Amino acid sequence: MNDIIDTPAPTWLAAYPAGVDWHAPVSEAPLTDAFDQSVALYGSNVCIEFLGRKFSYDEIGDLTKRAARGLQDLGVGKGVKVGLLLPNSPYAVVCYYAVLKAGGTVVNYNPLYVGEEIARQIRDSDTRIMVTMDLRLTLPKVSEQLGRTPLERVVVCSMAAALPFAKSQLFMFLGRGRIAELPDDGRHVSFARLTDNDGAVRPVAIAPREDVAVLQYTGGTTGIPMGAMLTHANIAANARQVAMWNPEADLGGERIVGVLPLFHVFAMTVVMNMGLLIGAELVLLPRFEVAMVMKALKRRRPTQFPGVPSLFHALLGYPKLSAQDLQSLKFCISGGAPLPAEIRRDFESLTGCRLVEGYGLTEASPVVTCNPVAGAPRDGAVGQALPGTRIEIRDLEAPQRALGLGEKGEVCVAGPQVMAGYWRNPEATAGSLRQGWVHTGDVGYLDAEGYLFLIDRIKDLILCSGYNVYPRVVEEAIYRHPAVAEVTVCAVPDADKGEVPKAFVRLKPGAALSAEALLAFLQDKLSPIERPRHVEFRDELPKTMIGKLSKKELVAEEKARRAGAGAEGAR
Ligand code: AMP
Repeated sequence: MNDIIDTPAPTWLAAYPAGVDWHAPVSEAPLTDAFDQSVALYGSNVCIEFLGRKFSYDEIGDLTKRAARGLQDLGVGKGVKVGLLLPNSPYAVVCYYAVLKAGGTVVNYNPLYVGEEIARQIRDSDTRIMVTMDLRLTLPKVSEQLGRTPLERVVVCSMAAALPFAKSQLFMFLGRGRIAELPDDGRHVSFARLTDNDGAVRPVAIAPREDVAVLQYTGGTTGIPMGAMLTHANIAANARQVAMWNPEADLGGERIVGVLPLFHVFAMTVVMNMGLLIGAELVLLPRFEVAMVMKALKRRRPTQFPGVPSLFHALLGYPKLSAQDLQSLKFCISGGAPLPAEIRRDFESLTGCRLVEGYGLTEASPVVTCNPVAGAPRDGAVGQALPGTRIEIRDLEAPQRALGLGEKGEVCVAGPQVMAGYWRNPEATAGSLRQGWVHTGDVGYLDAEGYLFLIDRIKDLILCSGYNVYPRVVEEAIYRHPAVAEVTVCAVPDADKGEVPKAFVRLKPGAALSAEALLAFLQDKLSPIERPRHVEFRDELPKTMIGKLSKKELVAEEKARRAGAGAEGAR
């Protein structure tokens, strides 16, 4: 159990959701044990539904044991890093749990990475074995790493073998060009061969607080990726904390949409780990396509739907979306990025389904806060701290000084889900993890009932004539214009003011808006210093791999443009 930080418990527990106990002990027992329990309890229930094919808990449990034994025979044990470069599929779940059972560490890879990014992460993490799919989009860029990086083996999963019979025939026929051949070189192993054993896993003694279960790379929208070391205790605690937040869950009866990629920490915990813990069915989709999601909603009638704001926004744009499609859902959860109030309101009023916002970060495995899943949400808040989780707002100038209610500062988090540090990066660890508190780089405040309000990220702060302008505030104001679909606000250098805000805007299809008209609209919503100095309309805005709006490309473009203009001027 967790004996986290020696500070008093929160004072706002009277406002905590009914049935949720902040003091309840959060078990840190490994998730592999919890998974075995779910297999024993829910054996014949559907564990994974993938494009129409169902896999029971018994089947997934059996495959996991055999994959774990196969990995052990390839040399996986404590400290060995196994990469998973997989789209959502039953393999992603089986191989994740198999690596943990074998005693190794999972390193999650984004299948959309290019070769150089994969090579960099293999070298940084020391990945020895990579599991991927037999697709031309994934296999060649993994295979080319053999011999030029520490990678020694590649396990290759067959896409066709995971599909229902008719679909697999069609895939083999139509998708021939998309399938990559398995090289016969002794360094590639098929998943079928890996699992061709009796499933007798050699027991491994896991020390939950010491042994790293997952190296999760982060830094996405802000900087150079680093591996957050998430221990067995971290990921197990967070899955249980999320489960505790919904005491009304129907054990063995929930069905969760898994369209967010499982290699991202949000879906890893909220879809996969939490789902398996409560014996849920995971309705997995290999990519986000509105029509595919709508079909899955009709086919499986899911009860929970975790997503990111841009995903809910895209669903809202689906012309045939109706309340009926989402009738089976008890709630949707939005996380990963700020959920504009407009999107929540429009989504809830159109579908009648609750859209509940939570907040987290990779370094906290990831979930830190959530709005109540039943009862009224608080407008603009990302929710209250999960059981066993403490939040302090610290002075931006003096990071050890805790601030009072309503005061704005850096959000700091402590709890059993907070990482052990950054892999091979003591400097970055010392910078963000101090006496058990992770300094999130997010700026916000707490109200008297423990609700956290985020204003921005520290690095996103725009320093304009010595004033702080928070891009999020500017974005929220711009979102209120009915013609606006998406907006990203960044700092751009300014000779007079240091930095000024620039807004990149995507309009709704068929909508028209000029920069002048937008600025006139903002006149009464933002102070003069906050109003964008530049507005640019675009057909598309850059996004990260899970669909969050991303600033770094826009910032780089601006920098390059200005450097080019400077060079022109100097000629
Ligand atoms: P990552 O570690 O890539 O998941 O990114 C975590 C960051 O995403 C956090 O530090 C926040 O800046 C941001 N984030 C996550 N959830 C929210 C939310 N609900 N509202 C605003 N920002 C969020």
